[in-house]
Parts: sequence; C-alpha cells; structure tokens
Amino acid sequence: MDRAAEAKTQGALQLDAAGRLRHLLTLYQLPRPLIEALLARAAAFAAKPAARHATLAGRCVASLFFEPSTRTRASFELAAHRLGATTLNLEAERSSAVKGETLEDTLLNLQAMGVDAFVVRHAEAGVHARLARVAQAGVAIVNAGEANVSHPTQGLLDALTIRAHKGADFSTLTVAICGDILHSRVAASAASVLTTLGVGELRFVAPPGFQPPAADGQRLFDDVDAGIAGCDVVMMLRIQRERIGSTDAPDDAEYHRRHGLTAARLARAKPDCIVMHPGPVNRGVELASEVMDGPRSVILEQVANGVAVRMAVLEALLAR
Ligand code: ASP
Repeated sequence: MDRAAEAKTQGALQLDAAGRLRHLLTLYQLPRPLIEALLARAAAFAAKPAARHATLAGRCVASLFFEPSTRTRASFELAAHRLGATTLNLEAERSSAVKGETLEDTLLNLQAMGVDAFVVRHAEAGVHARLARVAQAGVAIVNAGEANVSHPTQGLLDALTIRAHKGADFSTLTVAICGDILHSRVAASAASVLTTLGVGELRFVAPPGFQPPAADGQRLFDDVDAGIAGCDVVMMLRIQRERIGSTDAPDDAEYHRRHGLTAARLARAKPDCIVMHPGPVNRGVELASEVMDGPRSVILEQVANGVAVRMAVLEALLAR
C-alpha cells in the first residue's frame, strides 16, 4: 500500500462514528476543526506549564518504543503525569516481543491489565493501524513515530510553535522544511498539518537523494540558499542515518558546507524567521551551533510545547 492509501485507512480508523478522535494515527486529512481544538487546548496547557490536573486520574498510559527516543517518550510520560494518569514504560527490547509474541498479543495482554492508552513508536509502517484494529473500545493507540511515514504529535507541536510566533493565520507564511525529507516522518506530518491549516507556501528543500518521490502541493528545491530565501519558518532535519545504508550516507563536513544552516545562510530568510528542529540535532552537520543557540532558534520551545500537545492529545482520547 502506498503512503497516501495507508494514511487514508488510518484516517478512517482513528475517528469514531461521531467524528471524535479514538486513536491518533496520522495527521493526514485529520479534519481542521479537530486540529484546531487540539492546538487551542495545547496552547492553554502551554500557558500554565506548572498546573497539575486530575482529568486522567485512575487511567494508565503505557509506552512501547521499538526505536530510540529521548524527547517523545519523556514528554508523553510527563504529559500523562500532569493529567493525573499513571504510566507504564515498557522496554520493547526486554518485552516478550523478543520471545516471539506478536505485538497484537502483547497489546491484548496489557489491555487485560487495564492499560487505557498505548503510545507506540515502531520502525515498521502499518503497525499502529494493526494495533488500532485489535484495541478494545475505549483503548487508544497513539502514534509516537512510524517508520518514515508519520509522527503526528511532532506535527502538532510544530504547528503550535509556529502559531505562537506567527499567529493563527498560516496563509501568509512561507515555510521551508530542509534536509533529509525522504526518510523523515517529521517532514511528512508537518506537511500534513501545515497543508490543513492553509499554509501560504510550503517548500521541501532537499539535496538529490533526500527528495521525496513526488511533491504534492510543495515546491521542491535542491539548493538550500534558494530554498530558504524569504521564508518565515525554516525547519531543519537531521540525516536519518538509521534508514540509509552507511555507504550512502554523506560526509558530515561536506554536507554542512553544502546544505547546513549557518548564520550567513539564514540571512537570506526574513529577518524575523524562526528556526526549528525536531531533535536530535547533529550540531555542525545540518545546523551550525551559532544558529541552534542563536536568537532565532525556537528548538527548546518546540520541546516545551511537546508536553502541552501530548497533554491535549491524551485528554482528547481518554477524558470521556
Ligand atoms: N525525533 C524525530 C523522530 O523521531 C526526528 C529525528 O529522529 O530526526 O522522527
């Protein structure tokens, strides 16, 4: 199944008959009112980061990560705790998956113990939809990263961060997503949410070899200097080495020279352009330290917004 077909299947699975969010599997074609409601709720949580809530008291959120994570895993856990839920952190490499149990069976067992939501990251496309099909009513699957396909909460936190700096009307904005677009689920989810929110112009800026197969609605650039010229937002991406054969990965210094974002390059964007990155950053490769630590960088705001977005998502899924 191609990306768009898979996303459609997920889209149908993630909403209930009344059009409410049952699972969060993809942002692709997620209705705009749902996205805006999540962003509004997340903005309210972000405005009061010290507030603690009891909305999800008695509920349990389990995380099941089959790929490495720092920010996403920690931020879901903090989000659950701030809403009063308990959490279960399952080490995928130590779970019964390594003894031959299917993921569906793992889910059925944990569900039998009363887990209410599963936050899942997996390197294989389609796993989240498979789990959503076997989850019992009231149990939610949350996509915390699916292959190079999607990373919905990242897309939402990116939109929230852009909104905080540029306002809710995206139609006047030019956004450039730069780097290894081909292997990036972050780029895919950002494109989905920005498109739904009516972004003025979305540019994919990627060297040959890192360009997506077909740009639908995006302008494609292979030259970073041209790609970021006049932009309001520049989102940098790391080279996804884990999805590339080691012989095909470019040399770091050469990549930085040709495609890395430096202060000199950033001068081509608008003077109030913000610089984003989902992390982890490879300093001195896709992003110069002077930019990462500089006044245009909103990277740590993205991280803070991640907790607020995940609170909004968990609340929408579980607080009934
Ligand atoms: N942390 C993001 C992800 O899981 C971005 C990255 O790894 O480059 O996709």
